[in-house]
Amino acid sequence: MRIFYEADADFSFLQGKKVAIVGYGSQGHAQAQNLRDSGIDVIVAQRPGSRNYELALEDGFKPLSVEEAAKEADVIQMLIPDHVQADVYRTSVAPHLKPGKMLMFSHGFNIHYGQIVPPRDVDVTMVAPKGPGHLVRSEYVRGAGVPALVAVHQDATGNALNVALAYAKGIGATRAGVIETTFKEETETDLFGEQCVLCGGVSELIKAGFETLVEAGYQPEIAYFECLHELKLIVDLIYQGGLSYMRYSISDTAEYGDLTRGPRIVSEQTRQTMRDILKEIQTGAFAREWILENRAGRPVFQALRRQARSHLVEEVGKRLRSMMPFLEAKEAPDQ
Ligand code: NDP
Ligand code: MG
Ligand code: MG
Repeated sequence: MRIFYEADADFSFLQGKKVAIVGYGSQGHAQAQNLRDSGIDVIVAQRPGSRNYELALEDGFKPLSVEEAAKEADVIQMLIPDHVQADVYRTSVAPHLKPGKMLMFSHGFNIHYGQIVPPRDVDVTMVAPKGPGHLVRSEYVRGAGVPALVAVHQDATGNALNVALAYAKGIGATRAGVIETTFKEETETDLFGEQCVLCGGVSELIKAGFETLVEAGYQPEIAYFECLHELKLIVDLIYQGGLSYMRYSISDTAEYGDLTRGPRIVSEQTRQTMRDILKEIQTGAFAREWILENRAGRPVFQALRRQARSHLVEEVGKRLRSMMPFLEAKEAPDQ
């Protein structure tokens, strides 16, 4: 494994080059401002009429159209949602990809699953921060950085990795460490992690625990605290010191219950399902399903979203969180 730090990245590889950040959303606003503060020549592409356009202006950028930015820039970083990237690429980026330019991503989905096929004479790389945009910005501002992955899909110029590393340095990632990977590995592990553990796995675990207690007649408010609220406290311990530090911090009773009951919850059947889900990712079956769902106007996705929002754990949680000002309660907007 190769991991790159400050000394491994050289800004001179971006000298005289213009970097276009396409999209001023979560990653876009963070990466654009960090690069600019690192002394790199940055332009921003953001369509007018949205809050993000106003934000780009307030932050001192002069937002261009995607076409204009792609035409002017030597390095083009795609920071719009993955499901719209292929269309925007085809209509507005591809016509301006002159030989020697670099097309960049922060996630490998569209390249790995063949939704975007750039010409052979451009560099194609990825710098993928392992954290949300607001953290990429706030860590940079306080002199630190969020770690990232770097990958080269096409190296037409012979300098693709060096340019990508200079970019990673510009957003502050080499301060924390930049791990080398491939588009395939980043895409497949990212999808697996969010489906089986981080988002799908955790959400269902919370719901199943909550429902089991409520079904058995316990108060939903108590079930909420035991199965959802306290999860943050446990995850914080794991984040700082691994499973061992979490187990060191909890009571011996909790630790014994963890070690003996945990393996019954995530059983061989669950592990087999994880392998099945990984296969769907590796064969492209998941990607195909998601691309078609978007083409059809997201009928299944919207229905599932609506249903998920009306779950009892959400109602109870909303009420309880409003009584806990210390946690700065947030509410998801209607979509
Ligand atoms: P966002 O959802 O925050 O991107 C929103 C931006 O995309 C806005 O500028 C929005 O403009 C623009 N946009 C949306 N639809 C279109 C369209 N049809 N045409 C033109 N512009 C459009 O994206 P993220 O920052 O979350 O993700 C960007 C990339 O970074 C993705 O590849 C993602 O996988 C990756 N990534 C994201 C992470 C994260 O924490 N969010 C972490 C690591 C990687 P408008 O305001 O006008 O709608
Ligand atoms: Mg992801
Ligand atoms: Mg307890």
